[in-house]
Amino acid sequence: MFKKLKKIFYLYILHKKYYRTGSCNACGRCCQKIYVKHKNVIQTEEEFKKLQLLHPFYTYLKIIDKDETGLVFECSKLDKSTNKCTIHKSRPGICRRYPQEELFKMGGTLAEHCGYRLEPIESFDEVFEKVSRKFK
Ligand code: SF4
Ligand code: SF4
Repeated sequence: MFKKLKKIFYLYILHKKYYRTGSCNACGRCCQKIYVKHKNVIQTEEEFKKLQLLHPFYTYLKIIDKDETGLVFECSKLDKSTNKCTIHKSRPGICRRYPQEELFKMGGTLAEHCGYRLEPIESFDEVFEKVSRKFK
């Protein structure tokens, strides 16, 4: 019964498609290769400078690379010798909520060996049945 209520709550109240399970193993990978999306994935330093005015989180980031997706950042608040966040207690909401399923909508994936998993709330068969019903 609890499982069913939880499913309804996630699907129809929170409008989620995935459950987040697991826990952080403090590997620090999600703080080291970051793409930033604001409408589109940030491609230029000029775009990034404008974004930095919008939220303090962006001022923590520094550009380390550029690839076919866009600019690649790492966070200056990560202590690379320990893989720990140096502002853990006051880290921004975006870090507290990581990973969220919006990551997939942005075309992203979980960092390799991340201790979290995003598991579909509905199975493939359930989704297939729903879609089929619509077309009957
Ligand atoms: S603020 Fe901390 S948790 Fe957030 S990206 Fe930077 S190092 Fe990682
Ligand atoms: S990649 Fe996953 S396990 Fe590693 S620090 Fe980030 S949230 Fe934690």
